[in-house]
Amino acid sequence: MATARIPIPIKPEEDLNSFRIAMRQFDTAAEKCGLEPGLREVLRRPRRSLSLSLPVKMDDGTIRVFDGYRVQHSSARGPCKGGIRYHPNVTFDEVKALASWMTWKCAIVNIPFGGAKGGIVCDPRQLSKNELEHLTRRYAYEISPIIGPDKDIPAPDVYTDAQTMAWIMDTYSMTHGSSAPGVVTGKPLFLGGSFGRNEATARGCLFVIRSACEVTGIKLNRATVAIQGFGNAGSIAAELLAQNGATIIAVSDSRGGILNRAGLNVTALLEHKAKTGSVVGLPNSDPISSEDVLELQCDILVPAALENQITLENVDRIQARIVAEAANGPTTPDADIVLYKRGVLVIPDILANAGGVTVSYFEWVQDLQELFWDEDDVNRRLERVMVKAFADVHSASKKYDVDMRTGAYVVGIERVANATRTRGIWP
Ligand code: GLU
Repeated sequence: MATARIPIPIKPEEDLNSFRIAMRQFDTAAEKCGLEPGLREVLRRPRRSLSLSLPVKMDDGTIRVFDGYRVQHSSARGPCKGGIRYHPNVTFDEVKALASWMTWKCAIVNIPFGGAKGGIVCDPRQLSKNELEHLTRRYAYEISPIIGPDKDIPAPDVYTDAQTMAWIMDTYSMTHGSSAPGVVTGKPLFLGGSFGRNEATARGCLFVIRSACEVTGIKLNRATVAIQGFGNAGSIAAELLAQNGATIIAVSDSRGGILNRAGLNVTALLEHKAKTGSVVGLPNSDPISSEDVLELQCDILVPAALENQITLENVDRIQARIVAEAANGPTTPDADIVLYKRGVLVIPDILANAGGVTVSYFEWVQDLQELFWDEDDVNRRLERVMVKAFADVHSASKKYDVDMRTGAYVVGIERVANATRTRGIWP
């Protein structure tokens, strides 16, 4: 007698290469909006990619060589724009993906920039301030032929901050013979930074979450929120969402997560993080893993850490009704399909975290005109931009009957393609 075979469900292997993911997302949207084949070839790959070896004399006198990258994806709509990431897992392909996401992001919020990204393979937590300064200055020097206020304008990203930008601004200025605050954004306020820039990614995220709540019928002041990642975007998002009445039930950082279903005290949480360097161990909270934070029963999930966090492996356990991607690339294309089918509203990274680069644009404008705005002015302008961008993306997703990510890509691609087509291919 033949024994019945019980099929063992095997999850197919997912391709987690960020650049191939970015190209797959692009291809899906390019197909939907009928982009012509020639432009498809132009827009799916980066315009210019620089790979660097960066020697640094360490504090103990030894020499170490770090790998660094700067990728300029597109300058069709204006100077290239995008952050610099310091992380041990940075790869060239990741930087290429991040650069292309900047192109679509800038187009979606309709600011006159193309896209770029930089990265250095290093663990900044293992480097002294002196070593970080030398590494940053060497990198700034090596990319200085291709950056500039009207060429390519770097900004902070994962594990870089206003101090990093000040070193880059200084290195560029000293080697060019004049002070050039417009060469980077995310600078300290007293060096030509903008009010509201530090909070901009999170504040932009809040504005699109509000719009998403309107279309889904969720009340933000009664919503529960889980946040993965407690860096610049995640921690300030927690603060702003709590101020708007939401209940932050869980957060995590690279050391682990914490949960309190009745709501974490965000003021105490920020103090705890500032004091101990982590969210872990906050009084009145239970420890959970960083992965568990993603899978909690909640209304709004904010992935604010790194790429490939919501994958085929865990997507079936995601319970949130809105996913607001404060991080770049947290959801894989296969997971996207599952979430869309289940009716989860994903506010894609290239929309959800575009507040950062929007206020970077405001900073650059203020630097160039040497006239500075107050914080209310910055925040009001940011709100206008984000609300409009959400509406544009939402109506594109309805028009083409696609998920919000594909809708966002369509908006971005149509704007960049239009600029490229109208400028023509040089020479
Ligand atoms: N690193 C941020 C991002 O991924 C900001 C980039 C910028 O301000 O240029 O959008």
